[in-house]
Amino acid sequence: MTVSEPLDFTTYFNVINNQLTSTSQTRHGVNPANTQPNPPVPVSTQDDLDKAVKSARAAFKSWSKTSFDERRKALLAWADAIDANADGFAKTLTMEQGKPLTQATVEVGLTGIWTRGLSSIEIKGNVIEETDDRKVIQRYTPMGVVGAIVPWNYPVLLAVGKIVSAVYTGNTVIVKPSPFTPYCDLKLVELATRFFPPGVVQCLSGDDSLGPMVTEHPGIDKISFTGSIITGKRVMASCARTLKRVTLELGGNDPAIICEDVDIDTIIPKIGNLSYLCSSQICMMIKRLYVHEKIYDEFLDKLVTFVKTLKVGEGTESDVFFGPVQNEMQFKKAKDLFSSITTENLKAALGGSIESSPGYFIHPTIIDNPPELSRVVQEEAFAPILPIMKWSDEDDVVERANALETGLGSSVWSKDFERATRIADQLQSGSVWVNNHFDLLPTAPFGGHKQSGLGVEWGLTGLLGYCNSQTQWLKKSF
Ligand code: NAD
Repeated sequence: MTVSEPLDFTTYFNVINNQLTSTSQTRHGVNPANTQPNPPVPVSTQDDLDKAVKSARAAFKSWSKTSFDERRKALLAWADAIDANADGFAKTLTMEQGKPLTQATVEVGLTGIWTRGLSSIEIKGNVIEETDDRKVIQRYTPMGVVGAIVPWNYPVLLAVGKIVSAVYTGNTVIVKPSPFTPYCDLKLVELATRFFPPGVVQCLSGDDSLGPMVTEHPGIDKISFTGSIITGKRVMASCARTLKRVTLELGGNDPAIICEDVDIDTIIPKIGNLSYLCSSQICMMIKRLYVHEKIYDEFLDKLVTFVKTLKVGEGTESDVFFGPVQNEMQFKKAKDLFSSITTENLKAALGGSIESSPGYFIHPTIIDNPPELSRVVQEEAFAPILPIMKWSDEDDVVERANALETGLGSSVWSKDFERATRIADQLQSGSVWVNNHFDLLPTAPFGGHKQSGLGVEWGLTGLLGYCNSQTQWLKKSF
């Protein structure tokens, strides 16, 4: 195999110590557009995990001593190879996740931007005191073996963000994809074997038992977890037993506050996209839309008209915006939430029901001014159902925006920049946008307040989450 040989996207293996391995048992994901089985993938056992941890610990000894330049070089070569295989990754992502090929292509394209951006960040020690007699410095050392636990909504970008952060800071990493979307992650790591020494980047596919095995394993030093709040709490409890370091990127229920002075026609397409991208299965999507009462009716009419133009269909069809939701569990959860439209007597301005289809398709739904305590406002839908509510008083809308236990993202939209930033300053979330939502950079930290997470990923602060702080007291003589 040469470094530039195209990846074969038909067969899938675990990657342990740079060997492609199989397991006696296999399982498969499901194409959510037609519920047909995708190819078989390994079901890793405790023994597979033990082998991967042993290799990762052995590799750490030398990898942790390499320079940032050396690590950056390997990462950039890997990123170029992902780019060279971008078509295969994007098609596989649509097959396993369901998102339209255009959106899958964007996600795969972001991996290069994230790898280059994260590995451009300089991590320097810090001289605290220097005298003739002694020097006191703070420096950052790698932690050891990182377990990277990935969800099913953005399996490519989120896995790459964790791999780069771990490896660039001198750690070794074992990736555990979601059982719903193992395919691209296995191939990303298979590709990594061409650029990294054995044991530095590994990947294990498995069933629901594998995540807890990873968080419990005493040979793993840090867990970087992205997923739901409920699982995040289990992960933290499990990590407590061995006092593993842990970063949690969890769910959100982001508010967007629209002031009465906005240019409605200009922002409607943006709001529509930022509420429904990936069939609303993004942690920091607009999930609660607060529109000033003076423009509410016009805004709602125009939003409905715009969203009606967005096509629903298989991700492989051209011009599709809404693919299916990713899995049966999510589809059932969405059906349950949709049932609250009837039980809570809500008014759908668009959609409102889920029709039967060969896949997990849900047509976009907009709920017209539901009560603040209705389920569609209180719960993270992770499906294309958007509540739009009226507001008139600034303090009141800030209170409603901040009322939940989640605090991942929020946004304010106004022509009056000073007013928008004044409102933005009061919002309790890890990211706050003015006149946008979901802007991200690899060099900017990303994380949640309250129950939306612990710690951050990306940016210098994110990278430092993969490092131990060490204070050295260097006395120059006795
Ligand atoms: P999930 O919590 O069900 O699963 C996430 C991952 O954890 C999967 O790999 C799963 O196999 C694994 N897992 C499950 N139980 C585990 C356990 N007990 N111990 C260890 N690992 C375990 O989440 P999901 O349904 O895949 O993802 C959707 C959720 O993720 C949404 O709530 C969404 O908002 C959130 N999310 C957050 C971010 C963020 O950056 N904040 C990004 C994407 C998704």
